[in-house]
Amino acid sequence: MKFKNFQVVPKMIFGRGSFAQLDEVLAAERKHADDFVVFVVDNVHQGKPLESRLPVKKAQDILLWVDVTDEPTTVQVDGLTEQVQQFSHKLPVSVVGIGGGATMDLAKAVSLMLTNEGGSAKYQGWDLIKNPAVHHIGIPTISGTGAEASRTAVLCGPERKLGLNSDYTVFNQIIMDSELIAGVPTDQWFYTGMDCWIHCVESLEGTFLNEFSRAYAEKSLELCREVFIENDPNKDDKLMMASFMGGMSIAYSQVGACHAVSYGLAYVLGYHHGIGNCIAFNVLDEFYPEYMDEFRGMMKQHNIQLPQNICKDLPDETIAAMVKVTKSMGPLWANVYGDSWQEKVTDEMLTKLFRRI
Ligand code: NAD
Ligand code: ZN
Repeated sequence: MKFKNFQVVPKMIFGRGSFAQLDEVLAAERKHADDFVVFVVDNVHQGKPLESRLPVKKAQDILLWVDVTDEPTTVQVDGLTEQVQQFSHKLPVSVVGIGGGATMDLAKAVSLMLTNEGGSAKYQGWDLIKNPAVHHIGIPTISGTGAEASRTAVLCGPERKLGLNSDYTVFNQIIMDSELIAGVPTDQWFYTGMDCWIHCVESLEGTFLNEFSRAYAEKSLELCREVFIENDPNKDDKLMMASFMGGMSIAYSQVGACHAVSYGLAYVLGYHHGIGNCIAFNVLDEFYPEYMDEFRGMMKQHNIQLPQNICKDLPDETIAAMVKVTKSMGPLWANVYGDSWQEKVTDEMLTKLFRRI
């Protein structure tokens, strides 16, 4: 048995209003007059109050607004990296990602690609990154994915959707300021929040569970319930903490059947992570029976209408393509079933599952 030895975020600030400390955090990195910082910011914040609060030094820094209508791609990462390289022959002293999982993943990937040559598609996989990244900071403005805590940056590449998984991917610093998640529209808040709830369920129900993962998942799930069921007055702080802890839980365990199915839906039909997970979870009664009522109750409580009958009438080839992607998620199925997962995860079982979606 070989135990995981993984990198965690070494520095973090948590608290309402803590975004104001970003300038001070960056000042510690700015050592020479021509040092510069790259800001990678979700363009949903363009023209909003957050824009005027960005500690951008106009004379030297570069601000890149990013569009996350589609999930991040290797092409987008390489384009952003090139923009930074054209801006200066020097490396930046920090890359700051401000937004949701998509924006934080873009910032992580750019910080890695500035020091690793050849384009991001080359590094999709596990531990392929050779050189440490440029210092990078993550600041979530929507909570649930746990991308602020994780060692991956998920990218859609020429062949597959797969992360740049490495110890170097982990942020050097995160700032968790729950004021920043206040304006998220309800549907998106729910879908991204459920990503966290699902991380906890898959971790707790998986065969990889140990006391490290359990401790984080149980607490994170409790916080999710306070947010989505009890409507706690401190729900923004609680969701932000739940997201981080859900990410820590799966760092030592793994996600499961829901993420495997969701990856199939994402790759073939383009469903984004949060909503794709909700669509998938809704048909996983056999896998997570004890959690179905809670999940459907939360959907009802927040008036969430998931798309219906998406796969019912799709051509067999399309279903087969989704089955293939889903089946290829070996570590996820190993978490669900243990070593013998290949006997259980058959085309027939998955085809039936997709037809119910
Ligand atoms: P997102 O980053 O895709 O953003 C979702 C939507 O919310 C976007 O329209 C965005 O503009 C908007 N938004 C963000 N902040 C807002 C705010 N404060 N107010 C209003 N709107 C706001 O959402 P997400 O669910 O956080 O991230 C999903 C992405 O994260 C996917 O690309 C997925 O692959 C990735 N992901 C990464 C990890 C990881 O560990 N790296 C884990 C899970 C998911
Ligand atoms: Zn997830």
